[in-house]
Amino acid sequence: MPASPPPVLAPRRKTRQIRVGKVAVGGDAPISVQSMCTTKTTDINATLQQIAELTASGCDIVRVAVPSQDDADVLHIIAKKSQIPVIADIHFQPRYVFAAIEAGCAAVRVNPGNIKQFDDRVADIAKAASEAGISIRIGVNAGSLDKRLLAKYGSPTPEALVESALWEASLFEDVGFHDFKISVKHNDPVVMVRAYELLAEKCDYPLHLGVTEAGPAFQGTIKSSVAFGALLSQGIGDTIRVSLSAPPVEEVKVGTKILESLNLRPRKLDIVSCPSCGRAQVDVFTLAEEVTKGLEGLQAPLRVAVMGCVVNGPGEAREADLGVASGNGKGQIFVKGEVIKTVPEAEIVETLVHEARRIAAEMGEIGEPQVSVS
Ligand code: SF4
Repeated sequence: MPASPPPVLAPRRKTRQIRVGKVAVGGDAPISVQSMCTTKTTDINATLQQIAELTASGCDIVRVAVPSQDDADVLHIIAKKSQIPVIADIHFQPRYVFAAIEAGCAAVRVNPGNIKQFDDRVADIAKAASEAGISIRIGVNAGSLDKRLLAKYGSPTPEALVESALWEASLFEDVGFHDFKISVKHNDPVVMVRAYELLAEKCDYPLHLGVTEAGPAFQGTIKSSVAFGALLSQGIGDTIRVSLSAPPVEEVKVGTKILESLNLRPRKLDIVSCPSCGRAQVDVFTLAEEVTKGLEGLQAPLRVAVMGCVVNGPGEAREADLGVASGNGKGQIFVKGEVIKTVPEAEIVETLVHEARRIAAEMGEIGEPQVSVS
């Protein structure tokens, strides 16, 4: 009998489905993870290198900035050579939207608050996008809210963000174009969550979740996890981008882990390690870190328990695919609930990595630990 899918907190909100190149967004498509290049788009090699790193880390869709004609001029090369769909991020200049469509980008992001005379060009943009078979993101951002709405609401409130997005959406709807997703980003998770909840009540377009300018890695990870968790736990969200002041690969790792944690993406490696306490008989922090490093890149869906003593150690290690319960300078190694051996503390990491590799091979999973432990 096939295993039933792991439980989720809520059914997905029913949304239209659009395509961003080979990636479907919305409907019953898996929730995708996006990031954005930090390279100058005109630096083609650096941009393609970063896209390759993002692809390897599990990124589904990548966005590149198009602030100038020079950037628009190289889009065709980047769109052609990228392994994942490329979205052109356009502010201020509608003509770059046409350039990006012509260049073969998979989608274009427009910011209604930032594109001069954009409203007058919607029909042309919709026509060009339809003919090219590409989608659009209406990306509203608290920092660049349409001045008319800022005047009306006094600040980028959830209502203001949603009104801006729906106004822009109505312009596309008026010309019969519906292949778009929407984002309403704010740097405050509370405002952001409320904005997306409001938006979800008012339309069935797929939603791109993001806490904008979330901050450096630690703060941004927490803000994004909390906000995305609040929305995803209600079934809201079709594609996500974690924004960090950190290398974009980190954004993808965080985004992927958020989805894995909520069973919205198949779990891969899951390290269950205890926080350590006065009972610990090994240095749990170092052990957990070394095991994590040793198993980096492993694709198999393994749960590995790294526990500091005999209180919860054997129980957790037994429940995991692989685990260690440490004590008295030794580690009891568990595989699928059975103690297979006891090794000296110095051999715990090496043994766990060896066993993980063996189990992964048995499962026929591709991907092996990238860091060998000697
Ligand atoms: S497993 Fe042992 S060392 Fe780790 S937190 Fe629990 S009691 Fe403390």
